[in-house]
Amino acid sequence: MLIVKKFGGTSVADKERIFNVAKRCLEDYNKGNDVVVVLSAMGKHTDELIAQAKIINPNPSAREMDMLLSIGEQMSVAFMAMAFEAMDVPAVSLNAYQAKIHTTNEHGNAKITEIETERIREELAQRKIVIVTGFQGIAENNDITTLGRGGSDTTAVALAAALNADACEIFTDVDGVYTADPRKVPTARKLAEISYDDMLHMALNGAEVLHSRCVEIAKRFNIPLVVRSSMNRTEGTVVRNREAVA
Ligand code: ADP
Ligand code: ASP
Ligand code: MG
Repeated sequence: MLIVKKFGGTSVADKERIFNVAKRCLEDYNKGNDVVVVLSAMGKHTDELIAQAKIINPNPSAREMDMLLSIGEQMSVAFMAMAFEAMDVPAVSLNAYQAKIHTTNEHGNAKITEIETERIREELAQRKIVIVTGFQGIAENNDITTLGRGGSDTTAVALAAALNADACEIFTDVDGVYTADPRKVPTARKLAEISYDDMLHMALNGAEVLHSRCVEIAKRFNIPLVVRSSMNRTEGTVVRNREAVA
């Protein structure tokens, strides 16, 4: 099986969590699966970079912001590859240039247009765990772009589509998709499953648990998504087409 596993910022915020993620990926790898890992920037790194930029210039151009923000994801994938090295597990980190994630030119809100998967497939064929930067892409003129806040989810699902993956798991800091934000609404209930359309509606109404564009891509390519916690083994929420939802 080819499995795409995406981990958000909280899930890779420090050394302990990076190794926790590495070990979870290794479980799949050791069963003989091909594993592609997509990472966000660590903790609140993206917010910190934005704040630092504003000290220099309150109105930086979107192009230079993308140049800056792409640092966050690049740091995560390098650290993750180093964690695998420390565990003697073959792995390689790739940024958007190396993974050939092409996008439109809209800095700060670019859309993925194509992913050339040869390099990723070559690395997988050598039995490496492939760790790809979420959130970033390359524009037609080779400038770095970003996909909008929360865009690493979209990188994961677009990669799952391009690689014809057997599974796409989105690991986050809550146990799945709830009826409302569980941090704000204590009575919110975790859903075992939800249709693409209902999930899209929630995402467009501000539920940041999934980037809305990732839900659109998942629907278009009929890729079931599993949203679950990186901190525990609780079964998460399956996002899939309405016919499959019980
Ligand atoms: P990540 O860094 O893993 O991408 P995000 O912060 O983008 O995580 O998304 C997870 C957060 O989404 C949760 O911590 C939660 O507060 C929030 N959230 C908002 N609405 C929902 C919902 N309906 N179900 C689950 N989480 C939600
Ligand atoms: N690091 C980016 C952000 O904070 C992308 C992501 O987390 O998905 O928005
Ligand atoms: Mg997110």
